Amino acid sequence: MVDFIKEAEKIENEVIAWRRELHQYPELLLDLPKTTEFVMTHLKEMGYEPECICQSGVIAVLDSGKPGKTLLLRADMDALPIPEESGLPFSSKVPGVSHACGHDTHTAALLGVAKILMEHKSLLKGRIKFMFQPGEEGGGGAKLMIESGVLKSPDIDACMAFHQVVARNHVPTGVIGYTRGAMMASADMFRITVHGKSAHGASPESGINPIQILCQIYHNLQSIECSEKPRGSALALTIGQINAGKAGNAIPESGFMCGSIRAYEESVRALAKRRLKEIAEQTAAMYGGNAEVIFLSELPATVNDYEVGDEMFEYAKELVGEKMTMMLPQIMGSEDFSEVLKEVPGVLFRISLGDKQEGYPYISHNSKVVFNESGIKNSVAVFAHCAVKWLNAHSI
Ligand SMILES: [Zn+2]
Ligand SMILES: [Zn+2]
Repeated sequence: MVDFIKEAEKIENEVIAWRRELHQYPELLLDLPKTTEFVMTHLKEMGYEPECICQSGVIAVLDSGKPGKTLLLRADMDALPIPEESGLPFSSKVPGVSHACGHDTHTAALLGVAKILMEHKSLLKGRIKFMFQPGEEGGGGAKLMIESGVLKSPDIDACMAFHQVVARNHVPTGVIGYTRGAMMASADMFRITVHGKSAHGASPESGINPIQILCQIYHNLQSIECSEKPRGSALALTIGQINAGKAGNAIPESGFMCGSIRAYEESVRALAKRRLKEIAEQTAAMYGGNAEVIFLSELPATVNDYEVGDEMFEYAKELVGEKMTMMLPQIMGSEDFSEVLKEVPGVLFRISLGDKQEGYPYISHNSKVVFNESGIKNSVAVFAHCAVKWLNAHSI
């Protein structure tokens, strides 16, 4: 068996150079012309025949020519509308846009994996499909790629991805993090629009005040979290925006509030969504108004498959050593690899790119965040090692 840590070290400088190039030209959502061209060009140089599917999605297949299963390896490529203030010499050259979530490190790492595995194709059985995805930070990139057939021909049997983790306590650079089962929450963004009846501030009895209704809805919604969800389950129902009225002496016609629902369990998520609608509509009706609930975006929880996850984590431990792996707790954030995991069993690992004790104090999505690039090689090595091991263990 090839030592993939050594293989990753051989191309480490190249991977970091790719990352820095991507870092300087971050692109948003589903519009990634420079990034996709970069990925396509490098894949072609390695001997792949990459294909663009949907807007800005890139796929490439490495077929060993031997019978076996198909493993999907995924990286996201999009950046954030956050100006960069890291002070790095290779900072973003695009005003107001930066790779503050480290997707540039994911893209560069997966390109590295593609390079190593092409060189060691003879070790493989079955196929590997590379998925370079746009629109993770909004835009529904994973879902779009699924709708465009990323999981078909060849059909995918299992999947794997990495996301960076930074600025934690005692999760040193290069550590591979794993969470069994649900690791990240679902995220359903909603808007409640309340229609009342406008009136002069001097005669509230002739109107229906949507502000009063919005306030009542806000209070009533608290009961979902306080007394309706199962005791042991996590739920975060947050209202982050409320808007109504233009003047203190006039009752407006309508108003709205926006928020999000996050949960690890599908049943809790479904309960919260159903009750949100009931409470909003019935509260509004009680005061003679009406409420309309719409979901602006919906994302399931990110759930690692026990079998594939545990097996891949064993391979990771075997490669980097027990000390460089860690079980990590669930987090209430979300990740749209969940859409792929809903269709195909798989795992999303974490790769530490710096922790607080090492001098990396800023979390991702912060304009000052800096990632420790020396951790990237471990994700490259683990990706490659797991792919070879899994495909051989499950060969037909
Ligand atoms: Zn992010
Ligand atoms: Zn991210």
